[in-house]
Amino acid sequence: MITVANINFNNKKALIRVDFNVPLNEKFEITDDSRITAALPTIKKILADGGSVILMSHLGRPKEGPTEKYSLKHLVNHLSNLLNTSVQFADDCIGENAIELSKNLKNGEVLLLENLRFYKEEEKGNIEFAEKLSKFGNFYVNDAFGTAHRAHASTAVIADYFKNSKCFGFLMAKEIENAEKVIKNPQRPFTAIVGGAKAGDKILILENLINIANNIIIGGGMSYTFIKAMGGNIGSSLLENDRIDLTKEILAKANEKGVKIYLPQDSVIADNFSNDAKISNSASNEIPESWMGLDIGKEAIETYKTAIAESKTILWNGPMGVFEMSNFENGTKQIAYSLAEATQNGAFTLIGGGDSSAAIHKFGLENKVSYVSTGGGALLEYFEGKELPGIAAINN
Ligand code: AMP
Repeated sequence: MITVANINFNNKKALIRVDFNVPLNEKFEITDDSRITAALPTIKKILADGGSVILMSHLGRPKEGPTEKYSLKHLVNHLSNLLNTSVQFADDCIGENAIELSKNLKNGEVLLLENLRFYKEEEKGNIEFAEKLSKFGNFYVNDAFGTAHRAHASTAVIADYFKNSKCFGFLMAKEIENAEKVIKNPQRPFTAIVGGAKAGDKILILENLINIANNIIIGGGMSYTFIKAMGGNIGSSLLENDRIDLTKEILAKANEKGVKIYLPQDSVIADNFSNDAKISNSASNEIPESWMGLDIGKEAIETYKTAIAESKTILWNGPMGVFEMSNFENGTKQIAYSLAEATQNGAFTLIGGGDSSAAIHKFGLENKVSYVSTGGGALLEYFEGKELPGIAAINN
């Protein structure tokens, strides 16, 4: 894997695709800058080598071209402070003015281009647009793992214009190395924990994990479609009727391969979808009519904790319940704590997917696990066994 660590950027103009898709409040202030700080090591290395840096990113999902709300100009001051150097801004990501700014960029200087998604061509992976972007630098660096599963102009197509002058940034390299630790030759037993709302979204990852994991722990809303498929009564819990056959197939395949599937034997149930609902505990396959399972129960937590403690490699994607509501956060919280404990005892733990990393941050455990991925969809697709366009474009 070629990374920025292998290259001397002295006198080079590095065009870096970063993921600066940060949340902004109504005053356009950044409320969480972790995506920016994650890219700093790559930027600093290039500047320290004596190169210059042109940064390109998307922000949000602008529908109608340039929009104040989605302008990357709101990031300039904060980025300058973090880098301790001034950052120039081009109010367009293509065009003569922007090109002029990049031509005049001296070694050690930084230029941020306006939001790539102000052009529809970006998401369409348009070749002419990619070619225009390629003119900004003589070296291409991809450090945007969060968009590595997209074949967009700036994440994949552009790499064709940098045959022997492209590489991964530090963040991308770290993401790939950690994901590979799990998917290639994991220390065993390897336990995958898959949760979240919908079974349908997780079928592909489950199908792939059956070929690699020893145990698969299932939690969250998706578990009720499995329990229903096994003949249980799930009341008004989340159900995807059209996925029942697929969940049956998964259970049969796992059985064939000797992969142990854990489903929550009990659940915290509620009489409506609210933190103020009446709450009770129930076997997950005997949930009364009009009650719904919103978290895994105490017995399930104990079983899951034991399986986690016995594992050497653990992947976690998706919460065990509606962890955003305090009455239904316990399952997710206990799993997060047992991952931290397993890590302390020498297991390798990888957490990824938007909601499980949100959960690990909520409980303040992000530094107590081996790695928290910055990629939601990208990590999911990686573990579905797909080749990510952003990775392939650098490797090929
Ligand atoms: P996903 O994006 O598919 O990973 O799902 C995450 C969402 O699933 C979170 O917002 C949770 O609140 C929700 N969720 C987890 N467990 C349940 C459940 N038992 N019933 C309804 N929603 C759930």
